[in-house]
Amino acid sequence: NGLKKYFDIKGGIFGRSVGSVKAVDDVSFTVQEGEILGIVGESGCGKSTTGKSILRLIEPTEGEVKFEDKDITQLSGEDMRKLRRNMQIIFQDPYASLNPRHTVEKIISEPLLIHGMTDAKERKDRVKELLEVVGLSGYHASRYPHQFSGGQRQRIGIARALANNPKLIICDEPVSALDVSVQSQILNLMEKLRDQFNLTYVFIAHDLSVVKHISDRVGVMYLGRMVELTEKDKLYDDPKHPYTKALLSAVPLPDPDIEKDRVILEGDVPSPSNPPTGCAFHTRCPLAMDICKEVRPQFEEIEDNHFVACHLYDETAQ
Ligand code: SF4
Ligand code: MG
Repeated sequence: NGLKKYFDIKGGIFGRSVGSVKAVDDVSFTVQEGEILGIVGESGCGKSTTGKSILRLIEPTEGEVKFEDKDITQLSGEDMRKLRRNMQIIFQDPYASLNPRHTVEKIISEPLLIHGMTDAKERKDRVKELLEVVGLSGYHASRYPHQFSGGQRQRIGIARALANNPKLIICDEPVSALDVSVQSQILNLMEKLRDQFNLTYVFIAHDLSVVKHISDRVGVMYLGRMVELTEKDKLYDDPKHPYTKALLSAVPLPDPDIEKDRVILEGDVPSPSNPPTGCAFHTRCPLAMDICKEVRPQFEEIEDNHFVACHLYDETAQ
């Protein structure tokens, strides 16, 4: 709720703050239990920072993060550590996130040990069980990360995330580094696990095609802001925000009605250290009006469960 994360830019010989990057700039959304919420945007839009702030792997500058009605930004280190068992993350690059000198057994055992499973035999059994849950066999436990393919390594990353029966998993581009053929296998596995363990995912991706199948709702971010958020079908069939339309225009669509509504994206994403005034998208928006340069559009529910931040849908603005 109202989540902000500003990073200081240091400069000069004294390393004083000379400005800030508004990586996440006033973002609010909810995730329901058992839901898969996709968050999509180009690189640098703040989606990973949002995901990491939810786990407090990054401390938010401002705003609340409520997990089961508890504002976790106010929790002490010890309470946060206990709660973290319920909240896990899967990273983009499974290789970088697995210690190359540790066996798979040790990698997956670690979170078990941290959260109190002190019995070695119990841990060994649990590792075997987890490997089987993600489609690997228990005999892989004694191997090292380099002995696996990219897809298998991501399965190990998933097994580690599942170790303590979490409720929420932040999936930070978990398939972006994988071959397309392997991507769908991992996506299918993740969907199956969601059903099997009643998991909740925040699923971060840089393009809309990856989250299309798996998500219940999808949010689109641009330059640190959420610009549109709605149910998956509404977003893909009836996008409202010009930026969402542009992202979808980059994906080939069979529907001629949508075809005529194409928005082609021009120019690069402006720097988040010096974002445009008003609507951050106005420098690239083919529909921009005068007000867009001056006034930041509110993120508002324009129809049932469909949130958009754009002056085109704000009657008082036109
Ligand atoms: Fe385009 Fe204006 Fe809407 Fe921003 S507020 S997306 S500039 S029409
Ligand atoms: Mg990222």
